[in-house]
Amino acid sequence: MENVIIIGTGCAGYTAAIYTARANLTPLLLSGTQPGGQLTTTTEVENFPGYPEGIMGPDLMIKMQAQAEKFGARIAWASVESIERREDGTFLLNAGSETFEAKTVIIATGAAPRHLGIDKEKELIGHGLTSCATCDGAFYRDVPVCVIGGGDSACEEAGFLTRFASKVYLIHRREALRASKIMADRALANPKIEPIWNSTVSEYLTDEKGEMRAVMLENLITGEKKELDVACVFVAIGHVPNSGFLGDLVDMDENGYILQNPGRTSTKTPGLFAAGDVADHYYRQAITAAGQGCAAALEAERYLTDLD
Ligand code: NAP
Repeated sequence: MENVIIIGTGCAGYTAAIYTARANLTPLLLSGTQPGGQLTTTTEVENFPGYPEGIMGPDLMIKMQAQAEKFGARIAWASVESIERREDGTFLLNAGSETFEAKTVIIATGAAPRHLGIDKEKELIGHGLTSCATCDGAFYRDVPVCVIGGGDSACEEAGFLTRFASKVYLIHRREALRASKIMADRALANPKIEPIWNSTVSEYLTDEKGEMRAVMLENLITGEKKELDVACVFVAIGHVPNSGFLGDLVDMDENGYILQNPGRTSTKTPGLFAAGDVADHYYRQAITAAGQGCAAALEAERYLTDLD
């Protein structure tokens, strides 16, 4: 029986692991399907305190992992499919053929990229449709690509893609970017980025091999439709929290974000805590996720002390 199982190895998960490990609780981290979390798919992180020169996202996660392991945290490469709370208040976690038992669980499963919900999405992933410029950008050299979205992610992805693509269209459904001013200004000043305002993509168009060749653009004001040739579409329209496996153990908002008890990381189920993007639709920053991971670790520690 583990004292603490932490599900997820992003900023929240590793920070919870550092704190619970230093409290001698020898936490077990379950990696999930994206070890290292969302920062492993980003480039330079400029706003994590302590790195005035910036740090690459994957490097930051490797450092967090090393710091957690240094204090005795263990990592199992497992993806939890469901959790049961037993009569005695302990938890049984089902992860494929494996099961795990714990007195407390910290959910730090983060969020996954949102897609538009139009035809051909599933078939096109890896064939000209992606949500990770860092992973796939280099495959699209000297060809036009597009980014859908108007937030910091869209601007960041668009900027990164200009290193490879001949042209980067930034397709946004309104006429003003949601991104922070510094990121928006940087994107709009880049001569390789062409914004397409008040527009959405209503269709993905493929060639005879099933690869992306163009998108059908729809102007949301005039209703006008036109094809835009692109070799790849990078979708950056936000995220969906990875909370579907929790069933009735937690309350969620209408978008699936876990509802924590006011001012705490605890949930309606005693011994079950939530931290980071799976419970935060508002800040969604590496540093706030890390902060919540710390808070969840402290609450889990106090819960275990009270049990004893
Ligand atoms: P976001 O801020 O929620 O922006 C999502 C964008 O997608 C918005 O522009 C939104 O349009 C658009 N959108 C949403 N649903 C859509 C749909 N169905 N069709 C078309 N467009 C749609 O998400 P994000 O850019 O991923 O950023 C998430 C958080 O991470 C933010 O807090 C951001 O500051 C942070 N972040 C920070 C950095 C950095 O500082 N280096 C980098 C990346 C992300 P509307 O604007 O019309 O709603």
